[in-house]
Amino acid sequence: MKIDLTGKRAVVSGGSRGIGEAIVKQLAACGAKVAFSYRSNEEGGQQTLAEMEEGGGTGLLYPLSVGCRESVAEFFQEVDDQWGGVDIVVNNAGMDGKRERLWEIPAEDWERVIEVDLIGTYYMAAEGLRRMVQQGEGVFLAISSVHEQVPWGGHTAYTAAKAGVGMMMKSLSLELAETGVRAVSLAPGAIKTEINQDVWSDPETMADLKKKIPMNRMGTVQEVAETAAYLVSEKASYITGTTVFADGGMASYASFAKGG
Ligand code: BGC
Repeated sequence: MKIDLTGKRAVVSGGSRGIGEAIVKQLAACGAKVAFSYRSNEEGGQQTLAEMEEGGGTGLLYPLSVGCRESVAEFFQEVDDQWGGVDIVVNNAGMDGKRERLWEIPAEDWERVIEVDLIGTYYMAAEGLRRMVQQGEGVFLAISSVHEQVPWGGHTAYTAAKAGVGMMMKSLSLELAETGVRAVSLAPGAIKTEINQDVWSDPETMADLKKKIPMNRMGTVQEVAETAAYLVSEKASYITGTTVFADGGMASYASFAKGG
């Protein structure tokens, strides 16, 4: 099976590092033109662009605050101006937020996570779907998290946002069912990136993390990017309104491997 995205115009939020960077490069390698964003890491964005262009891809780099409605609207307007529309939207930009208990975290910090992870997904979906529904074809892929389902102390805003994203995709898929557009959530587990560097760089916390993963290892950005490429392709044409976990089994209660 070959995943061919030739001729497709993709929009990806957050492509300057980590999972987003790998998705941008993977979609480009499959033949899509990819418009992608960075928020603060312009250098990383430029590097992703240079690397995907070296591989023969066509890209467009844009500064974006995914939690700002005007910023998202301008990004899509730019893609319209350059490429005349969009066929694939991947909302990847997101943040974990600080590890703090709900009643101790400053309200602004809690709200910021919701703004970026949940409301940002809504803004990206609204702009993308307005266009894709009209053309009767397309796919919206939300990069969620295993914490869409697995509770995580210290991260109530993050888990609330990601659970919200999962349910948003399910409800959205019902609205979209007969339009030719799909809505899917992709939930990565512990993928080795900058976002969790504090955990994997310390042998003690890394040992604890591995215990939480039945496959006993972290995932790679490439494993997530390849799953994303499949889900946005025609090969996944019957998949909508569901969450696909790429988590080494993390959502399957590792502590129940034995005993019980
Ligand atoms: C978070 C990571 C974390 C992983 C597993 C992800 O959603 O972004 O920081 O390592 O979940 O807990």
